[in-house]
Amino acid sequence: MDELLIEGAAVLPAAGAEPLEGAAVLVRDGRVAELGPADELRRSHPEAGRAGGADCLVMPGLVNAHQHAEGVSTAQLGFPDEPFEPWMVLMHSLPTVDPYLTTFYKSMLMLTSGVTTHVHSHFPAKGGYEGSEAYLDELEHSLQAHREAGLRTAFAPYWRDRGRFTYDDDDRFAAALPGDLAGEVRRLTGAPISNAIYIEAITELARRLDGDPLIGVQLSIAAPQWASDDLLDAIGAAASDLGLRIHMHALESRRQRDWGDAAHGGRELHHLAERGVLGEGTTIAHGVYLRDADIDLLAELRAMVAHNCSSNLRLACGIAPVRRLVARGVTVGLGSDDMAVDDDEDMLAEVRMAHVAQRIWDGPEPPLGAGDVLRLAWEGGARIAGLEGSVGRLEPGYLADAVVLDLAAVRGVFASPRLAYEDLVVARAGRGHVREVVVGGRVLVRDGAPVHVDMDALAAEVAEAARAVEAGRDPARQAFLERLRPWALRHPPAL
Ligand SMILES: [Zn+2]
Repeated sequence: MDELLIEGAAVLPAAGAEPLEGAAVLVRDGRVAELGPADELRRSHPEAGRAGGADCLVMPGLVNAHQHAEGVSTAQLGFPDEPFEPWMVLMHSLPTVDPYLTTFYKSMLMLTSGVTTHVHSHFPAKGGYEGSEAYLDELEHSLQAHREAGLRTAFAPYWRDRGRFTYDDDDRFAAALPGDLAGEVRRLTGAPISNAIYIEAITELARRLDGDPLIGVQLSIAAPQWASDDLLDAIGAAASDLGLRIHMHALESRRQRDWGDAAHGGRELHHLAERGVLGEGTTIAHGVYLRDADIDLLAELRAMVAHNCSSNLRLACGIAPVRRLVARGVTVGLGSDDMAVDDDEDMLAEVRMAHVAQRIWDGPEPPLGAGDVLRLAWEGGARIAGLEGSVGRLEPGYLADAVVLDLAAVRGVFASPRLAYEDLVVARAGRGHVREVVVGGRVLVRDGAPVHVDMDALAAEVAEAARAVEAGRDPARQAFLERLRPWALRHPPAL
């Protein structure tokens, strides 16, 4: 019998639950078997492996409900933050760092900040695939990294088939451009995109991953403005045939709201529901510009929202109505979107950002307490990842995914014993306080470092790969996009 005892000065079993002082979590065969006084469990299970200690705080592992597995950030690759649409045009020249290495490194950055489960919103690196095999090969590079990293992964590769440079059809945009720019836009958008390749690949992936203990697959469109009705229909049908969840960006920026108003009379989420892609298994990332009618629809359908607070601030999108979503019973999770506030994938800092930003969101709903925000990072994210009832709590029967914090380090020179653990964590905890991380009873991080990966060697490989893509950059492509950008930004977001 494989047992592990995770001890703490306190164990925080779930958001809003009473902390257990001087307690331990007994793990058996990857799941929580029992919680109880540490000294008693130590005596009754002398052979169990050990984690934590009398100076630690033990709590559920965090869930990153939306991220893109870019271990080298856009800022590091030479693209500083800007408002969303100007930034997005230049993303067409973002170089692709080796997908295996960048995914692996990103997973390690997440893991060492206490993340045990994540949703990987994968974007196609190459595009223009001849068949589903080439696309599947690309996806397998990321999956290989996820297998070696050892985190729980909801793998959601997205697809898009319209609006490459704007929210309008590519042909109409090209027609509005001067000759040489129009020619280049037509060249880049000319090849028809086969949605069948995507559906074939995801169907095959679902078959390969069936029964995988750590990795599941979800269907995904990039966003409503980037998907034709053909693509929506194909994804709606596949979701129903294969029983898969759906993940997508939506209503991230004001201009996307304008597109929804112009294209669907403000009912783009209803349109998604009618096409079978918005329902109980669907998550939309961002939702900054959700209106009350949209929130009512999400609540009615039991659809979910992945909130990316720092990303929304860094790309000048705004503050999402999380308090209103929570008040109406919509499941919300927290994501980093590869845009964490310090550009370092510190999920504990992201929890803090969400807490702080919601205080200034303008609405009548009650503020979110520390426990409310932790619930989003635990159980909210778990449901988005498809792991509701298995992840997000340290209770008997749940998967043994835990993060162990150095409590003295979190407290600093002094912290009043009157301060609740949840308040302490949300106010002060960060990557530097993570001592151990456990996934399914496996201790993957000890003393803040992964035990199964040589981080220095991996970082050196990532650095080398990033230098190589920087050296191979095509300055002409960036110059073209810089010239195209004002045209794209002036182009009306209408149909
Ligand atoms: Zn995203």
